[in-house]
Amino acid sequence: MSKWNLIIKVGQCENCQNCVIAARDEHVGNDFPGYAAPAAASAESPIRILRRVQGDSHMVETTYLPVMCNHCDDAPCMRVAGDAIRKRSDGIVIIDPEKARGRKDIVKSCPYKAIVWNEELQLPQTWIFDAHLLDQGWQHPRCEQACPTGVFETVKLDDAAMAEKARREGLEVLRPNLETRPRVWYSGLKRWQTCFIGGSVTARVEGVLECVAGAAIVLYAGDQRVAETVSDAFGDFRFDGLEKNSGIYRVDIRHALGNASRECVVGESVYLGEIGVALTTSEVETH
Ligand code: SF4
Ligand code: SF4
Repeated sequence: MSKWNLIIKVGQCENCQNCVIAARDEHVGNDFPGYAAPAAASAESPIRILRRVQGDSHMVETTYLPVMCNHCDDAPCMRVAGDAIRKRSDGIVIIDPEKARGRKDIVKSCPYKAIVWNEELQLPQTWIFDAHLLDQGWQHPRCEQACPTGVFETVKLDDAAMAEKARREGLEVLRPNLETRPRVWYSGLKRWQTCFIGGSVTARVEGVLECVAGAAIVLYAGDQRVAETVSDAFGDFRFDGLEKNSGIYRVDIRHALGNASRECVVGESVYLGEIGVALTTSEVETH
């Protein structure tokens, strides 16, 4: 049977908040019996945009990550809520607006912090995938319609086809170690989860500080050669996809104008700043 899934393209979100506003517009003050009671204007939004800033001036990368209910197939919230939360045959998880009344304990049951508390109605609420609209024949939730950069892609597939699509496209879910089997998938999640080491190669040429393009740069972890690259027209280089807290690295830079080496510790991303290359006395004599 076909079920709903949402794919989120990491790196395309620009934090315009249109998706948040559209979801709020749909639900604040509007009652959809059987799906969701009116959301409170004073409550948190069940769609949130998280932010990660990596690096340092001038190599800074900001990534925004939309998060919401994952409509998990093995949902921890359902284990706590009993019959106050149900899983529809099309994959969507619905918090019952009547049975869940007064159940503040349900808010904490979600490891993704996807459930918000409606103080006015004493009700836990979440993003319902706009199930009330999909049931009327809509193909996309309002957050997807409102997004100007195409971050969201709703797909309705049977589970085997979705698993194959995820494998083919390298889609991942948040916190797979929890084994909650989310129906919200992310492409390019590495940008959110991994680190980079970057730097800018310069050299003094006739007394003027110049960017050094085309320097050969090798990244080592201990004695192991991890990756190599070449500096661009601005002298910049960058090694992506490094694990957080992965320890000590060394960067060796070689160019006709000179060589340099730097060590750093990767906890988060590291921008090494300007690295001036220079030839040693013996290298100058060789040249
Ligand atoms: S993300 Fe949280 S609220 Fe949504 S189904 Fe999973 S456990 Fe439940
Ligand atoms: S509408 Fe799209 S770009 Fe804007 S915050 Fe939401 S996901 Fe990001």
